[in-house]
Amino acid sequence: MVRMRGRFGVAFCRHRRMCFRVEEGILWCLKRHRGKFVSLLHPISAFTLLSVIVFLFVYELGYVLPLLTDPLGMWHKLNWLLAIYIVFNILGNWWLGFMCNTAVDSVPPKRQHPTVGEAHLWHYCSSCQKLVPPRSWHCRLCNQCILKRDHHCTFSGNCIGHNNQRYFLAFLFHLSLGSGLALVYNTLLVWKSKAFMVAEPLFLINENHANDPDFNWKYTIACMFKLSFFLFMVPLAMFALQMVMVYRNSTCYRILDRSYDVGWRQNFEIVLGKRRFWTFFSPTISSALPNDGAQWFQRQHV
Ligand SMILES: [Zn+2]
Ligand SMILES: [Zn+2]
Repeated sequence: MVRMRGRFGVAFCRHRRMCFRVEEGILWCLKRHRGKFVSLLHPISAFTLLSVIVFLFVYELGYVLPLLTDPLGMWHKLNWLLAIYIVFNILGNWWLGFMCNTAVDSVPPKRQHPTVGEAHLWHYCSSCQKLVPPRSWHCRLCNQCILKRDHHCTFSGNCIGHNNQRYFLAFLFHLSLGSGLALVYNTLLVWKSKAFMVAEPLFLINENHANDPDFNWKYTIACMFKLSFFLFMVPLAMFALQMVMVYRNSTCYRILDRSYDVGWRQNFEIVLGKRRFWTFFSPTISSALPNDGAQWFQRQHV
């Protein structure tokens, strides 16, 4: 038994050593080729997402909607307006989130240093070689410390942190809304065309489709229905995760840390600002944040 444990222990140590070497190798590569990596990763991610948005917009409004509603009717026009409003919100929040500086350098110079009695809460960043506020963490891709760092977003090409989380949240909300609307259109079209089961592998094996002249068309819309279901679930899951993080005043970087939870109303205000959920209506609505991201009050333990 002892021998087995010994063998297992040695194998475990070797495995850990190997993982550590791989991790070190990745970090070394990242440090050395950060510029090239970032200049490739960010445009590719952003272009992919933009292509999906444009494709869905054109397919749903140009192809699916005219099959469901009268193109000259009021219902058709209202759907167009709703879709334009959602796309405006997606692109607007995406752009403002990208433009927003949420690095430690964004706080006024006099707040770049801890005030009296605060020093023990700040920590030293060996990469930036300076003291940084609590909840600020270094991002290897941005190569700077980020205020209340949540995660690095390859689609917006920067980190999501204290100053731009509001835009990220609204961006995900409208992505979910837009893809949800596309899913509703696709469900109605598939239902109307009796094509629900057409793209199922078992159905394809057992049935003879030679007599159905609309088979290819039905197959395409059934596949689009499945794709739109997937495109709805991804942003919805991300939005739900972000809502949980904001509700608890945690971050994806420190997912279990609830020491800054000051009650859900205040937690949402910290991220969305004074106007809270009104910010979801438009990215242009100004909503001042209650703090500068350099000072954080921890929950009082009873
Ligand atoms: Zn740093
Ligand atoms: Zn980053």
